[in-house]
Amino acid sequence: MFEYAPAPESRDIVDIRPSYGLFIGGEWVDPQGEDRHKTVNPATEEVLAEVAWAGEADVDRAVQAATKAFPVWSAMPGAERAKYLFRIARIIQERSRELAVLETLDNGKPIREARDVDLPLVAAHFFYYAGWADKLAYAGFGENPRPLGVAGQVIPWNFPLLMLAWKIAPALACGNTVVLKPAETTPLTGLAFAEICRQAELPPGVVNIVTGAGETGAALVNHPGVDKVAFTGSTEVGRLIARSLAGTSKKLTLELGGKAANIVFEDAPLDQAVEGIVNGIFFNQGHVCCAGSRLLVQESVAAELLEALKRRLGTLRLGDPMDKNTDIGAINSAEQLARIRELTESGEAEGAERWSPACPIPDRGYWFPPTVFTGVAQSHRIAREEIFGPVLSVLTFRTPAEAVEKANNTPYGLSAGVWTEKGSLMLWTASKLRAGVVWSNTFNRFDPTSPFGGYKESGYGREGGRHGLEAYLAV
Ligand code: NAD
Repeated sequence: MFEYAPAPESRDIVDIRPSYGLFIGGEWVDPQGEDRHKTVNPATEEVLAEVAWAGEADVDRAVQAATKAFPVWSAMPGAERAKYLFRIARIIQERSRELAVLETLDNGKPIREARDVDLPLVAAHFFYYAGWADKLAYAGFGENPRPLGVAGQVIPWNFPLLMLAWKIAPALACGNTVVLKPAETTPLTGLAFAEICRQAELPPGVVNIVTGAGETGAALVNHPGVDKVAFTGSTEVGRLIARSLAGTSKKLTLELGGKAANIVFEDAPLDQAVEGIVNGIFFNQGHVCCAGSRLLVQESVAAELLEALKRRLGTLRLGDPMDKNTDIGAINSAEQLARIRELTESGEAEGAERWSPACPIPDRGYWFPPTVFTGVAQSHRIAREEIFGPVLSVLTFRTPAEAVEKANNTPYGLSAGVWTEKGSLMLWTASKLRAGVVWSNTFNRFDPTSPFGGYKESGYGREGGRHGLEAYLAV
């Protein structure tokens, strides 16, 4: 085994203020109430900054600012709106190292992932939708598709800036204005994005950022001045939102949880499949809605694959997310860690066999070792519920039909993976899987040109690609 020298990224490039207000109407404003909360680095528990939690009056002010900006922004020729989006995309590229460091500090994800995955995709989304802004008439939604108005957008903590890009880029390209609420544990890159809007001289009120927790999110989605709600988060909260919006004229898209099957057939290139399994469930500590959290492996190759997988997991490096050699960073919060622990304990209690590689855990911060459960039955909670952590449940199958049956035996339907060298088997399996995205011989690949979204309890509506425009147009 090679030893690695520490390769820490410097945090000097980021300038975190001790305290942040709300970004409304192009200005930093103080909230009306006194409610302020600390955001911490989950790898060290160090307090990074204090952030305002917006109340109803603040949300109302933000919605009013977005309403005021809408007539000008929506009437602007698409080619002019595109210039702002291109400018934002370029500023993100210019500031990408700074934004990657900030994301890693606030979220706990390895800097290598923030730098090489999150940030390039964030810029790519703005570039991609900038390209659509003056071509909406050719998107297949009529000659003159109209924007909806004010979009209220609520995002989770696992990909803070990327989820912001997925929401804001198409909304602005279509001529809507936005009020966005970042997740309570990861507000800092959203607030940095507010600065980028100023730097790009985006007209005031086109983008407003209000920080806070569930109450702030609820105030936003229920505000009568909001015309469209876009939510990414848990199925539980998605259900609440769907219920409260029923009967209103608000348009709604929901991107919710998942419990994806990663299916390995006996003819698959096993070494490649091992890499795909690792990427599928241990990327971003498994805090990925489309994570390949259920490995379905054909019985004839199960022993060989598991041996190779365990060997590979023994080489993963868990620790300081700011070190460029780190593969597994910190769990985002104490609450999420408690949830992962509770579910893994239920796995053992229900009779599955638990395994983790020898893996030193840092003294401070929130950590969970990569974990594999074998002997998992379909009825176990770890096979049914989303763990949202670095935990893989392994099940076996004998025939392709059984693989499909087991893969679809879930209330979710966000993604799936198929590993085989046979094109016909791959296409047959993909056509039977009830999942919004099916990857073949790869996993967790994202591209702004490709639509993403779920079936069943994983939500409805699509983000990304031409399809992603539909959610922001009156069609
Ligand atoms: P969460 O639902 O608890 O929170 C998501 C966001 O909703 C946060 O900003 C939160 O403050 C806000 N919120 C909470 N209660 C609310 C309410 N009543 N009204 C309005 N907003 C409210 O989810 P989480 O724990 O932050 O994120 C993890 C979940 O997100 C996982 O289930 C994961 O699968 C899902 N997710 C889905 C996708 C996707 O594209 N489908 C992407 C990332 C994450």
